[in-house]
Amino acid sequence: MRGAAFTAGIWYVFNDIFYEDRDMTNTEPKVSSTLDFSAQGKHHGYLSIPHSRNDSGWGAVHLPIVSIRNGEGPTMVLTGGNHGDEYEGPIALMKLARTLNAGGISGQVIIIPALNFPAVMAGNRVSPIDGVNMNRAFPGRRDGSVSSMIAHFVHHKILPLADAVLDIHSGGKTMMFSPFACYHRIADAGVMEQAKQAMLAFGAPVSLELVELDAEGMLDTAVEDMGKIFVGCELGGGGTTTTHTVSIAETGVRNLLAHFEIIAGKPQSREDRGLPSTRMMHMPDSNCFVICDDTGIYEALIDLDSPVDTGDVIGQVHFPEKPERTPEVYRAARAGTLIGRSHKVLVGPGDFLALIAADM
Ligand SMILES: [Zn+2]
Repeated sequence: MRGAAFTAGIWYVFNDIFYEDRDMTNTEPKVSSTLDFSAQGKHHGYLSIPHSRNDSGWGAVHLPIVSIRNGEGPTMVLTGGNHGDEYEGPIALMKLARTLNAGGISGQVIIIPALNFPAVMAGNRVSPIDGVNMNRAFPGRRDGSVSSMIAHFVHHKILPLADAVLDIHSGGKTMMFSPFACYHRIADAGVMEQAKQAMLAFGAPVSLELVELDAEGMLDTAVEDMGKIFVGCELGGGGTTTTHTVSIAETGVRNLLAHFEIIAGKPQSREDRGLPSTRMMHMPDSNCFVICDDTGIYEALIDLDSPVDTGDVIGQVHFPEKPERTPEVYRAARAGTLIGRSHKVLVGPGDFLALIAADM
């Protein structure tokens, strides 16, 4: 018995080393691309992600991607649909992909309107295939699930080409934001300043120095870890769009391309467009987030863009099974302005209720 256990132990150790070694040395994606990213001109193609399943034995997911390249200049990667229920990105980027031509640019623009394509087609935040949140899947695995393989291809084959990345988000079905563009506080002060200037060029109503609740696995973090410029945004939410939020995305994308001198002309500033200047805000501490601790019906008691003081009531949770019970009140733990809130009403412990930012 002892001998057999020893032999099995050796086998497991060998197996571990073998597989570990295989993962470490082979970084070539299983995903293939119909595009040659070094080719000049405008090319529509797709990534092919192997996906063998009951209704398609040798099947694959085809994820549309566009490369527009002309001469010398920076490369910008534009992504939408990282979460499948956020639509400003897909709409603005499909419009851009149809209208931007190689003759109109210097450098390269790589457009992925629906980064988590299966999630976008399902209208859900995460992929219906593997339940994975694309923005927690980076750097991905070459032999992982469909979402993980997409992240792996983007990480290994697309991000290395980029000088700057814009990822367009909104709140999805469960959150609503006062439209903002954002950058992160990162160790490299030079890159951080470039990201901040790019964010300001984007021209959203609010410009936020954002602190993430959970940064590991995000596209943002992958880009920043490569020392590249990352700009994000949250343009609305509720699983829909408005003419206002889509126009912010469309103008913002063109402004960024102008900022990096990929297209001619200067970014159109908010002032040039007769709009109030952007409001520069930050998140000084974790008290910016209000998180739910009850199960029930959430009643928001102040609206987006309202000022709050420490201790102000921002909402309350009612208990439909006990109408006589006094609602649980939620208060702001710091002063600032409400720029994000829960869009869903049926809430539970751990749910996001509110985001409070302070003027910088
Ligand atoms: Zn999102």
